[in-house]
Amino acid sequence: MRLLIVEDEKRLALSLAKGLTAEGYAVDVVHDGREGLHRATETPYDLLILDIMLPGLNGYRVCAALRAAGHDVPILMLTAKDGEYDEAEGLDTGADDYLTKPFSYVVLVARVKALLRRRGTAGASPVHVVGELTLDTAARRVHVGEDEVTLTAKEFAVLEQLVLRAGEVVSKAQILEHVWDFAYDGDPNIVEVYVSTLRRKLGAPLIRTVRGAGYRLEAPR
Ligand code: CA
Repeated sequence: MRLLIVEDEKRLALSLAKGLTAEGYAVDVVHDGREGLHRATETPYDLLILDIMLPGLNGYRVCAALRAAGHDVPILMLTAKDGEYDEAEGLDTGADDYLTKPFSYVVLVARVKALLRRRGTAGASPVHVVGELTLDTAARRVHVGEDEVTLTAKEFAVLEQLVLRAGEVVSKAQILEHVWDFAYDGDPNIVEVYVSTLRRKLGAPLIRTVRGAGYRLEAPR
């Protein structure tokens, strides 16, 4: 799951990013409304955390522009103080939820998880089954048969991308885009390292390499 934080208070933005990264999300941060709109348009984010008072373009306008362009990414708005945020206006422009600063970090994480869950369960259950493999995106647990497999946050995120598109070819670039943030400018072959660890931990030949194209998760026959 990849999140974008659009917040001009740099210390707040960085501490949120650090905390959410520790929760296993890929997190990008920008400090300007226009840059936020650009990023959110270019990249398939799973959630936006959007401040209202921003340089460049305010949060209401960013939100309205995204919705007008047909983007349905969940948006959690942040407001500096009571009264700055007009709930009616916020919901009018298409925000899904809002938080008033100062907020507790625990509450923010709970809201983020609730929004992602709401989105994830709108059409489908959070539990995905592919052959022997069961992946629960809400509880973040993986089983092969009866056995629970312990994965790191990044390993889980890579596997999740393959499970969500089981049976289809998923390219390294698509996995990178969802699992690593834009500060990562290292070797895209890092995906191979994670896939080989996943193969070893899952102990079943589930992840096929499709030469020159990417990977495909298959249910064993
Ligand atoms: Ca601000």
